[in-house]
Amino acid sequence: MRGVIMYGPGDVRVEDREKPTIVEPTDAIIRVTSACICGSDLWPYRGAENAEWPVPMGHEYVGVVEEIGAEVRNVALGDFVVGSFFASDNTCEICRAGYQTHCIHRQPGAATGSQSEYLRVPLADGTLIATPTRPTPEQERGLLAASDVLGTGWFAAVAAEAGPGKTVAVVGDGAVGLLGILAAKQLGAERIIAFSRHADRQALARTFGATDIVRERGDEGVAKVKELTGGLGAHSTIEAVGTQESMMQAIRATRAGGHVGYVGVAHGVSLDGLELFFSGVHLHGGPAPVRRFLPELIDLIMTDRITPGDVFDLTLPVEQAAEGYRAMDERRAIKVLLTF
Ligand SMILES: [Zn+2]
Repeated sequence: MRGVIMYGPGDVRVEDREKPTIVEPTDAIIRVTSACICGSDLWPYRGAENAEWPVPMGHEYVGVVEEIGAEVRNVALGDFVVGSFFASDNTCEICRAGYQTHCIHRQPGAATGSQSEYLRVPLADGTLIATPTRPTPEQERGLLAASDVLGTGWFAAVAAEAGPGKTVAVVGDGAVGLLGILAAKQLGAERIIAFSRHADRQALARTFGATDIVRERGDEGVAKVKELTGGLGAHSTIEAVGTQESMMQAIRATRAGGHVGYVGVAHGVSLDGLELFFSGVHLHGGPAPVRRFLPELIDLIMTDRITPGDVFDLTLPVEQAAEGYRAMDERRAIKVLLTF
């Protein structure tokens, strides 16, 4: 099978790989019908994260079940399925509380790399969900977004307690931030302020539900949000970047008693205890328990009530994956979909 391997920073290759096989009786093998490149794939690409090279890439996927282990009950051969980047049993106490990314049996959901023609998914019964019917091409793009960026943006909006009557600020205009806007809108937010200085992303932000755009960053951006909210700050802020600046921007843009939902993978972020103490802000986030939201997201997508697949602005055959990484690294593309 063909698949994407990263050999080191900036070095992405598409190669012939061994097709994965069932290892545990709870595994499933799926034929990946589309995959994508994640903003988090850019951390190792830019050399900002150590890895044991070479690394099979990709953790977002949709596809068709090709083979199942002897103990798999919830999905069957031929099912079209959606899963996420952590495999979970979906039965332990942590899973039942809705935190499947912290499952006591959690493991990588796509250890063999989803930017490949076939993928081994562990704990298939707890991890994969079959769609009620075969998706249309547009629905398939949406389901692929649900696999990570939509699920993550949704969790951020829930963690930030976005809802009716709330003003939501969104730090980060990548795919997760943009879909956090879509989530906040679906959850009933009254006003959604997007931080962005790129015309194409601003346009998509507005399509997804942003009511205001702020071009300024850092404390200047915070001042703008205060200006727009009678000096108070947002009720709910989504942090979808993961840097020191973005985290402080999120905390400072939030009013006392408000909530920050942080889902940007933190790189070099440290918080000043005294500032946090006096901010009076709730912080909640981490790796999104996408599995919690998948049933609802699949329903919204399969009934065409949301079209999160609009976040993919570049589609390439997997053979051109290296160009996809370059386009995202250079911010020429918001999110790249890979076809097989
Ligand atoms: Zn669990």
